[in-house]
Amino acid sequence: MRGWITPPPCTPRKTPAEFQRERQAKVRLLEAQGLLRSPRIKAALLKVRREDFIPREYRDYAYEEVPLPLPGAAATISCPHGYPLFYEPLGLDCRHRFLEVGTGSGYGAAVAREVVGRDGRVVSIEIDSLTHDFARRNLERAGYGDVLLVLGDGGLGYPPAAPYDRIAVTAACPIIPGPLTAQLVPGGRLIAPLIEEDRQILTVLTKTPQGMHRNAVCDVLYVALQGAYGTEAAATCHSHRT
Ligand code: SAH
Repeated sequence: MRGWITPPPCTPRKTPAEFQRERQAKVRLLEAQGLLRSPRIKAALLKVRREDFIPREYRDYAYEEVPLPLPGAAATISCPHGYPLFYEPLGLDCRHRFLEVGTGSGYGAAVAREVVGRDGRVVSIEIDSLTHDFARRNLERAGYGDVLLVLGDGGLGYPPAAPYDRIAVTAACPIIPGPLTAQLVPGGRLIAPLIEEDRQILTVLTKTPQGMHRNAVCDVLYVALQGAYGTEAAATCHSHRT
């Protein structure tokens, strides 16, 4: 069985200065590991206070490499290294129109907002209303009220703000949802954990005139995508076929 261990809830004790030291140390480590290269992504990770996107009882673990539970049925904030892991191969950069599927804590959207800059745009979709409300409060308090948050099925994308230069799906998908590739610009890129048997393979897809070009990055472990393109929908389709 594959999974992760959640550390025990505790009363937060760390000071802002301690969190800042941990954030700086984490960024140095991610660079040393070769996971972080882009100066814009580095600046974003140094600026956004990850601890502000974590429920109080897990806040002291903000810079530990473990996903932490969030309000909602199946939401977690991904491990710190998960953000450069997605945004580096995605080539997220200034002026991009970026769509995130799975808002979770709102932290990934805040980091992306810093990376795309004033002339870019961030749209993020969350299917769970409790999680969506949690992310909205976090983003507003942290000064990212201009991220467009949508409550709904991210597998369907968000046509009113399409097309997108970059899309990140932060939940594991049995297939890449067609509406998402349709809402990418030509040359645009999408990254998602793709389920293949008992593995999840983080995959980058680039939209070319010949179709979607695929590149595998590494194995990962994310919560399952829900909705029309989710794992349960795929299982239902499968059982209808058999
Ligand atoms: N990017 C987040 C982590 C997301 S965890 C962060 O930075 O904190 C995955 C999230 O995807 C969960 O919140 C889950 O509720 C959400 N999710 C699952 N299926 C979804 C769907 N079809 N549309 C939108 N959100 C979905």
